[in-house]
Amino acid sequence: MDLYEYQGKQLFARFGIPVSEGRPATTPAEARAAAEELGGQVVVKAQVLTGGRGKAGGIKLADGPADAEEKAKQILGLDIRGHVVRTLWIERASEIEKEYYLSITFDRGAKQPLFMFTTQGGIDIEEVAEKKPEALVRLHVDPLEGFQPWQARRLVYGAGVDDPDEQKQIAAIVGKLYDAFVGTDAMLCEINPLIVTPEGEVKALDSKFTVDDNALYKHPDIEAMRDVAAADPLEALAREKDVTYVKLDGEVGILGNGAGLVMSTLDVIALVGGRPANFCDLGGGGDAEGVVAALEVITKDPQVKAIFFNIFGGITRCDEVARGILAALERIEIPHPIVVRLDGTNAEEGRKILSDAAPQNLYAEATMLDGARRAVELARG
Ligand code: GDP
Ligand code: MN
Repeated sequence: MDLYEYQGKQLFARFGIPVSEGRPATTPAEARAAAEELGGQVVVKAQVLTGGRGKAGGIKLADGPADAEEKAKQILGLDIRGHVVRTLWIERASEIEKEYYLSITFDRGAKQPLFMFTTQGGIDIEEVAEKKPEALVRLHVDPLEGFQPWQARRLVYGAGVDDPDEQKQIAAIVGKLYDAFVGTDAMLCEINPLIVTPEGEVKALDSKFTVDDNALYKHPDIEAMRDVAAADPLEALAREKDVTYVKLDGEVGILGNGAGLVMSTLDVIALVGGRPANFCDLGGGGDAEGVVAALEVITKDPQVKAIFFNIFGGITRCDEVARGILAALERIEIPHPIVVRLDGTNAEEGRKILSDAAPQNLYAEATMLDGARRAVELARG
């Protein structure tokens, strides 16, 4: 789950990482009131789950309440790479002397958390990694030993920070960022930029914070930060119905049991010249309840022209899935042709159940490749 900048900063503050004072706002009037409360110059910041807001015109300095209201009008409703701005964060403006970059994420290859730090902050970190890799200091933390203070010093010295006061503040922030990362079961905590003010104060001016979905049950306060309105409505419906669903851009709706099989199905659809409309995993189940839920989600996507059910029966029994499909067809009206490939445990029984019932928009195929071909052909109409 990705958090908005201001939510990430709330978590930073909870772990003692310095941030600027601010207020959320959803209307120009609220932006004005927030600026009044904060006093002086403020920054009006678009809250969207994508980076590069500055370049896209989503971050503007304002001289006072009236100007904040004006800037809020300009930013609210702005489309930043497909994300429409509905919330603003009004923050007391900072003076910036230097912009650094600090993050912690998982290095899956090394099976360890990885810190990255560079004094070349403010810009795309990918650009730094590519053009000036020696400027990016990388350091793994052994999760069993935990974080050690010398690691923070190595990051700071390695990047060439030479002011002792800065070194101390950054090292403290590194330790707190590790606490935040572990304490919230995060997958990414990024501060870009981590700034130094002319007075020599170091603080987080931005936040990118991703928490592991599977750990949210431990963090109801973070779960409550989820912005349901901003999510894709179909993905929200899927989450509500406990269906694993990812929206894609093609015409063939895909349903399989197991993520590996679904991924292969996407490939096979592409191989025969089609485009998948989604990724939908029934998981180990395949009972009528699950099939109905998945079909409900898939058929709500207006781009879907045909549906390809790809089931390999292992633990899931094909006869069970076949009954699920029939029960689903009784409960919801499905205008699309449905291609079903059943293989594995009780496959023959499953196919017989389908052919006995013989719904007219249902096509049974014996192999994945034939099924994919048929689905793509039917999607073309
Ligand atoms: P991003 O573009 O989505 O990464 O948003 P950031 O929060 O990182 O802001 C982008 C840039 O706006 C920063 O790198 C700063 O240069 C500038 N900026 C943001 N907040 C302030 C502020 O309080 N004062 C000043 N002077 N510049 C700011
Ligand atoms: Mn940033």
